[in-house]
Amino acid sequence: MEFQLLSEIADYCRSTGKDMAQAMVDYEMKHRGVTREQVYNNLKRILLVMEESVEQGLTQQVISPSGMLDNWAKKIHDANVNTLGASLKKAVARAVAVGEVNACMGKIAAAPTAGSAGIMPAVLVTMMDEHNVPRQRLPDALLVASAVGLIFAKNSSFAGSEAGCMGETGSAAAMGAASIVYLLGGTTEQILESVGFALKASMGLVCDPVAGLVEEPCTTRNAVGVANAFVSAQMALAGLRSLIPADEVIQATREVGELMSPRLKESGQGGLANTKTGREIQKRVFRTEPQK
Ligand code: SF4
Repeated sequence: MEFQLLSEIADYCRSTGKDMAQAMVDYEMKHRGVTREQVYNNLKRILLVMEESVEQGLTQQVISPSGMLDNWAKKIHDANVNTLGASLKKAVARAVAVGEVNACMGKIAAAPTAGSAGIMPAVLVTMMDEHNVPRQRLPDALLVASAVGLIFAKNSSFAGSEAGCMGETGSAAAMGAASIVYLLGGTTEQILESVGFALKASMGLVCDPVAGLVEEPCTTRNAVGVANAFVSAQMALAGLRSLIPADEVIQATREVGELMSPRLKESGQGGLANTKTGREIQKRVFRTEPQK
């Protein structure tokens, strides 16, 4: 049970009659030498951090030290205009809330990274509060997300310096999509389809943080990432097939990451970081300019 590919996890589920969450419990017990109880206790601890970071971002004064972020989550949450429907609007606000807490050095659960930490909490809290999913099901949803993360880590990279933002917010969106499909009763095959959709939508997304800070565009990419997760889950649950299988999409992210210019991989030298305004922000915050 080495699980190099998502299709291998799906095969394991088919042959054992287990779902993807239980497959990951087996994996954790075998590879980390932990008990089932320890697995779930750890997941509950992570979920608590996720919930608290959402709450903090939505209820406390959150202004990042650079000044770039200023209670954006609350502004989205309280806006009178709603282009998204109530559920997705709240999901977006929750993703931004965690991004802001992270920018303010608050406690977040990296899932898979700090830069993309808003997407999974936003998905899970939204499934609980807006889709009436009982809290006790969330650890299993996190296990399904971890299956996607495990295979992504083995075949691509979570690092913005290697795979750009598709490695961070892209993989988080795929993990979120898989969780949603699982919680809404989708099949293992549909979980894989949702992963394919989410990653294809993120293909080639560069990492270009302004002033090298995980704020702009990171926070709003979490907002779009959670929307990507819900859209991808919706398509998979409607029976759409990702024409390129999820495992092949993951492998393509590695190739695309390798082909990306180093200036677009967390160097702070290209893209938004290298715009006139991006350079001015860096000068204001650090009194330095991005390297040419
Ligand atoms: S832009 Fe770069 S630093 Fe920001 S979330 Fe994406 S990968 Fe992370």
